Amino acid sequence: EPARLKGGTGPEAAQPRVFDCSVRDALRAKVAQPDAEDAFFVADLGEVQRQFVQWAALLPRVQPFFAVKCNPDPLVIRLLARLGAGFDCASKAEIQQVLDAGGVARDIIYAHPCKPASHLRFARAAGVALMTFDNADELAKMAELYPGAKAVLRILADDSGALCQLGLKFGAAPQDTRPLLAAARRLGVDVVGVSFHVGSGCQSPAAFADAVLRARGVFDQAAELGFRPTVLDVGGGFPGRGDQSGLPFDVVASVLGAALDTHFPAADCGHVRVIAEPGRYFVASAFSLAVNVVARRQVVRDDSGCGGRAFMYYINDGVYGSFNCIMFDHQHPRPRVLASRGRFVDDDGPAPAEPVYESSVWGPTCDSIDCVVPSGALPELLTGDWLVFDCMGAYTICAASRFNGFKISDLVYVDTEGVLL
Ligand code: PLP
Repeated sequence: EPARLKGGTGPEAAQPRVFDCSVRDALRAKVAQPDAEDAFFVADLGEVQRQFVQWAALLPRVQPFFAVKCNPDPLVIRLLARLGAGFDCASKAEIQQVLDAGGVARDIIYAHPCKPASHLRFARAAGVALMTFDNADELAKMAELYPGAKAVLRILADDSGALCQLGLKFGAAPQDTRPLLAAARRLGVDVVGVSFHVGSGCQSPAAFADAVLRARGVFDQAAELGFRPTVLDVGGGFPGRGDQSGLPFDVVASVLGAALDTHFPAADCGHVRVIAEPGRYFVASAFSLAVNVVARRQVVRDDSGCGGRAFMYYINDGVYGSFNCIMFDHQHPRPRVLASRGRFVDDDGPAPAEPVYESSVWGPTCDSIDCVVPSGALPELLTGDWLVFDCMGAYTICAASRFNGFKISDLVYVDTEGVLL
């Protein structure tokens, strides 16, 4: 048993939650447990910390406010709060969760341009003053329900190169920003800054530079109308490590950093607090999902090129669960074999030269839309074998349902940097 429980021998010892080992060894330890069958995540808190350290090194002017919606994991939130991150919350419950985990109100931005009145009242009671808006009705609501709010005008960015184009729903168009600022002036709402979002899963670093330029223009409009903006919020859209965008974070950081230096030079803009709302960036690579092959079906396919043999595998998490990212986040998760025929497949060395077959992988529900991998090449698996999907931390657990009576996958942690010590 390579993995051992961190933190003593209390009641948790029977059901380890934090393993003192690598992700690889935790995956193996869980699978080796008697009667192991349920799908489970292994979350590496050390990876979240490494991403934080990389951010601080490559974007030192920008304070990250973790977008809680992406993965509201309590230990991730606690860790990021301790490291000095702020938080982007989109609802009353997210604000409450951050405060409960040790976050502080001044490091929260309520980054939803269309807020229910009760949530806005809650933000006021909690002292969360920084919040976004992008329309006149929201301004009126803020003026009435939270006169001391610190308003950040969310503007449209070019998100044409992103997986999720948030501009379809939010963001003030260029022709609307001046009238909105004038309305804020009339209503007595204090506009303290400008935000944008280049779209989640942004594939184009240039979109950040273009959006910073647009934000500069709106900063200047705000100043002309008598505001003194001090917050630039460059939103989310940063790639996760090793995610399917293939975009290296250092490329995005250097394009964004250069745009900030051009349009908000540190020498003139010392009073401007630059923040961002990364979600995927912090958590995507930190979570791996292990699933069990609960059933399989052999099919004969004339076109399979594998002697006509092809396989359909049924696993115990699917698109109604953690793989909702296929629908909502346009992801194409790819599995690797963790254990087959009772033996672990070494993920460090070269794959053994065994034949592969045309394979599809399906979720556990009765719905045929519940397809995780429509087509791929896998060695022949048996019922009871295990697959792993890496890079599953972003927009997965947070939107999982219990459709058809299937449970949401378990979660254990590893602590590869000693962050919980
Ligand atoms: N900020 C806002 C307002 C969002 O809506 C989102 C995602 O939808 C994010 C930040 C996080 O985006 P990402 O995970 O791409 O960094």
